[in-house]
Amino acid sequence: MKKISILGSTGFIGTNTLKIIAAFPERYKVVGLAAGSNVATLSEQIKMYKPEVVAVSSPALAYKLKDLLTPHINLPILVDQAGMIEVATYSEADLVVSAMVGSVGLIPTMAAIRSGKRLALANKETLVVAGKLVMEAARSYGVEIIPIDSEHSAIFQVLQGQRKEDVSRLILTASGGPFLNHDKKQLKNITPEEALKHPVWKMGKKITIDSATLMNKGLEVIEARWLFNLPPECIQVVIHPQSIIHSMVEYCDGSTLAQMSLPDMRLPISYALAYPERLKNDLASLNLANLGQLTFFEPDVERFPALRLAYQSLQEEESLGAVLNGANEVAVEAFLKKQVSFSEISLVIKKSMDRHNPRNIRDIEDAIEVDAWARQTANKIVEALKKNKPS
Ligand code: MG
Repeated sequence: MKKISILGSTGFIGTNTLKIIAAFPERYKVVGLAAGSNVATLSEQIKMYKPEVVAVSSPALAYKLKDLLTPHINLPILVDQAGMIEVATYSEADLVVSAMVGSVGLIPTMAAIRSGKRLALANKETLVVAGKLVMEAARSYGVEIIPIDSEHSAIFQVLQGQRKEDVSRLILTASGGPFLNHDKKQLKNITPEEALKHPVWKMGKKITIDSATLMNKGLEVIEARWLFNLPPECIQVVIHPQSIIHSMVEYCDGSTLAQMSLPDMRLPISYALAYPERLKNDLASLNLANLGQLTFFEPDVERFPALRLAYQSLQEEESLGAVLNGANEVAVEAFLKKQVSFSEISLVIKKSMDRHNPRNIRDIEDAIEVDAWARQTANKIVEALKKNKPS
């Protein structure tokens, strides 16, 4: 029986993880759940999965949750970052699913690593902000990180049984998002409502906007850089609108291995839970003859500058990754609130990066400081952009 704690249990990855766990009650038990603010969903999860430890992001939410649970369930409810850390390091847990969205996941994820738990990682921002530190910690605590991000899961799968030194290139595929064929002028006028309709993958709001700007792929390039310890010039992105090949690894003899399936996040999640085994499921299988063709082309970094910014952030001094990420989180939120336009998302990130003096990140406190600086700077840039708009 594998015991599991989930950080971010009410989000897209969290709820799908729980569905898989529910299908294999003889293999998995939920021992810890942490959620940001969705206490209604969390209370249902607690009733169904009966965790031993629970955390929410504030005392006010803890009171709300308690109300929803009484009189049937009496469970201590932990709060704030300290509560998230307790769930992440809970002694009974064998595996921690890190599925919070944004850099807020960094500290609990790091705590899980330091307590020696195996980590199923969906929170890519953690690696973007402090990839070097996180991977160093994983090495020194002997922790295996199994990626949940579909591209990284694909790469992880096709690396099995291969020698690391034989890898010549990672090729990340990207669906290209819903605005793949929009010109610059059309991109400018995209509304949040349009951007939230993703044609292929069904996901949470933040990642859906990131997919539309191609920043999601940029974050994934950085994630891959740290997770697989390869320099940026060995990581390539190719647009593949059908999302059937989830990524590829090219080896030194010219062989390229790919992992394929219909796009469904339940597959990489279940792989991360069961690794090195695989779980049987009822997901539709791939019919290549029905699909007919798979297509590929180069991403256009002129129309989608976010991808170029992500590559630019991968310098010797790694703090630009945290700046890119913090500024992106602020800009995406401002876009969803209609404070900045779609094309201004990348502009906010670029301007924030321009104002930063890159430096090495020595410890987590350092990473958090850069993250806070980036948010503050990006917020100022958003305010200035708002002032220039007719209201
Ligand atoms: Mg992905």
